[in-house]
Amino acid sequence: MAEEIALITGGTKGIGKQIAIILAKAGYDIAINYRSQSPEVEQTKQEIEKEGRKVLLVKADVSKSEECKCMCEQIINKWGKIDILVNNAGITKDGLLIRMKDDDFESVIRTNLIGTYNVSKEVVPYMIRQKKGKIINISSVVGVSGNAGQCNYAASKAGIIGFTKSLAKEVASRGILVNAVAPGFIKTSMTEVLSETVKENIKNQIPLKRMGTAEEVAKVVKFLASEDSSYITGQVILVDGGMCI
Ligand code: NDP
Repeated sequence: MAEEIALITGGTKGIGKQIAIILAKAGYDIAINYRSQSPEVEQTKQEIEKEGRKVLLVKADVSKSEECKCMCEQIINKWGKIDILVNNAGITKDGLLIRMKDDDFESVIRTNLIGTYNVSKEVVPYMIRQKKGKIINISSVVGVSGNAGQCNYAASKAGIIGFTKSLAKEVASRGILVNAVAPGFIKTSMTEVLSETVKENIKNQIPLKRMGTAEEVAKVVKFLASEDSSYITGQVILVDGGMCI
């Protein structure tokens, strides 16, 4: 395969890191966006380099449009193109609506939904110029089904689904495919914070009776990034062990 470039937001841990590794194994050079400096940043870079691929680390808070512009310019200056964009960066700030602070609602929307908009808005013009590209947005099952205590998060993830379908219609004629992956209950630092009782209750509601792994999500992203998904756009693929059946 000719060198293809994939940008993964929030790519130094959890699902994002697995996506970066699996795309590197598939032959992509990887731009990894990160927000906070931590030992995981350099560690992830080294793990990907072990796969024989090139890595560019780009620091940006996706909720800030100026930082996203600067991030994309850095990638274009280095590699001249972005073939795959995975909008993965996301946060939770759970709480019941009646107790939710305005900032907890707004910051989740700003990172998850506006972050997806910010990065896509910067990347799409380059994809239009090259007449091809794939955008894969990480939503969530709660964006489909809703979840008590997650009005902010579920709204952001449902917003991502509407965004995905609308953008897919806008850019299909330009050779750009836009899809979403909606993970269920996946073992990462995002779910680590839940108590054992809550985890057991959730597992009991999953037909496959277990949490998913970041790798299981990453494999679906790899499929959507590949030529094998060339006739799929505007879709939401649930990776949830049957949670939403
Ligand atoms: P993690 O908390 O492990 O990782 C989230 C990543 O996003 C981190 O690298 C984090 O960076 C980054 N990030 C957060 N805010 C920003 C920002 N403003 N700008 C740039 N990067 C940012 O979570 P997961 O790996 O579990 O989640 C990945 C995605 O999958 C998220 O969108 C999440 O909503 C979604 N998802 C996860 C599920 C799960 O069960 N785990 C289920 C459904 C969806 P930093 O460390 O610097 O904060």
